[in-house]
Amino acid sequence: MEQLNNITAHIKDELLIGPEAPIVVQTMCNTHTSDVEASVAQCVKLYEAGAQMIRLTVPSMGQVESIREIRARLRTQGINVPLVADVHFSAEIALAVAEVVEKVRINPGNFHKDHEKARELFAQLVQVCKRNGTAIRIGLNHGSLGERITNLYGNTPLAMKEAVMEWLNMCVENDFYNIVVSLKASNTIVMVEAYRLLAEQMKENGVVFPLHLGVTEAGNGDGGRIKSCVGISALLSDGIGNTIRVSLTEDPVNEIPVAQYLADRYDGRLYSSMSAIQIEGKKVVATYAAPSRERLLLDVSCDFGKRLLDREIDEIVLKGYYLDLEGNEVLLDDSEFAEYLVDELLQAARRRFYRPEYIACPGCGRTMYNLESTFNEVMRRTAHLKGMVIAVMGCIVNGPGEMADADWGYVGEGNGKVSIYKKKTPILRHVPENEAIEKLLELIEKGDC
Ligand code: SF4
Repeated sequence: MEQLNNITAHIKDELLIGPEAPIVVQTMCNTHTSDVEASVAQCVKLYEAGAQMIRLTVPSMGQVESIREIRARLRTQGINVPLVADVHFSAEIALAVAEVVEKVRINPGNFHKDHEKARELFAQLVQVCKRNGTAIRIGLNHGSLGERITNLYGNTPLAMKEAVMEWLNMCVENDFYNIVVSLKASNTIVMVEAYRLLAEQMKENGVVFPLHLGVTEAGNGDGGRIKSCVGISALLSDGIGNTIRVSLTEDPVNEIPVAQYLADRYDGRLYSSMSAIQIEGKKVVATYAAPSRERLLLDVSCDFGKRLLDREIDEIVLKGYYLDLEGNEVLLDDSEFAEYLVDELLQAARRRFYRPEYIACPGCGRTMYNLESTFNEVMRRTAHLKGMVIAVMGCIVNGPGEMADADWGYVGEGNGKVSIYKKKTPILRHVPENEAIEKLLELIEKGDC
């Protein structure tokens, strides 16, 4: 094996991402980037909440100027938080915006249908980033692997690893190391395996790039938090991962405390509130003295997520208490809440499905409808469909590709219209938003089309 080279990405002079630095907490705006006022206001809010890096979507060339303006306004307010441009399907935008922001997130595979052309465009982007000191995140998601790679390896964690290695090798050939990599999936098993395979391969090759971790389309509420913690903590506790985003279908400011908890815990600044543990075979009895409901939820997810994913345990019994908002002890022994928490945890680790599995993107500047309330309504109306996988996605550009293994998908088209998907196939298009949930339910009830 060659000598190991652990790479640290330099996000201009502002931030380091890599083994020499603490875990970096980041998030993404869900404003329209063209709405400069709203985007600046949200960036300020996210920065004040603790975001160390903020991503904004750049869906058109016109919005390159918007992000330039957003950045300038933040800098005038003394906010130097690095900005990341999220670019899909357009090398032209990536090349232009790389001169403006600190980091560009791309999936080079979707730069062009012709793979050789995509490689050429990526090589051009690397040169622009080198000249401007801009970092790149190569962000491949499970749902958006190209046909070329899935024909070779199937829609698998191995395919994700193989796909990203090609671009990383190109970076090495071009002597460009200002790179961060992500291999997100909404399925925690797929996500953890993909990152583990990649970490192993990079070690073998002797060049270890920093990793951005996240469970994509994790949803919202307790379920979204638990799923994110299960996937991210499994990797952080393996020593894999340098920056994290907890994607929630909520106000992005809510992502920060969860991500900060993970960063603090795996950088050794915070410990679980578990006070005792008994293990008998694959059964665990854990006792907690948690300072809040939220802390209990995060602690339990991180304490047992990895062990469930790795099948080291099958059963969890929670005892002890958490403190409610008035400081009263809420007992866990034989409680409905403890049972619910264990059910959610088993579902997040895909060990047992006690309700439908939801895939919902966090939304971004491409979202043209009220994603959060629609998702809540879809969950309310489909709660009885145990085991079914239902996706609610913000846009038609990335939504269908990203919803991976959903049985049904509700995908916003923009202009008040929705497409309904069965697996990967759109079976109804241009449905007015106010009729779309009804239509989705009718189709699910019929079972086919
Ligand atoms: S799927 Fe959701 S998060 Fe992804 S680009 Fe579309 S709206 Fe944004």
